Amino acid sequence: MPIYEYFCEDCQEDVEVLVLSSRDAPECPKCCGGRLRRILSVFSSPGDTGTGAGDSCAGPGTGGFS
Ligand SMILES: [Zn+2]
Repeated sequence: MPIYEYFCEDCQEDVEVLVLSSRDAPECPKCCGGRLRRILSVFSSPGDTGTGAGDSCAGPGTGGFS
């Protein structure tokens, strides 16, 4: 099962979250908060704007692009 790294805006810490379902919003294991930001430890090369998987969980607050 995948473990992803997140940054908790409540704890201001990096946390690792076991993601059982990609459809569930992850919770911080420390404070049970839901304000987690995904940390991408592997960055795509510039110019590759994500045609692959992994960008399907855009939640509220991520729509800053226009
Ligand atoms: Zn937290």
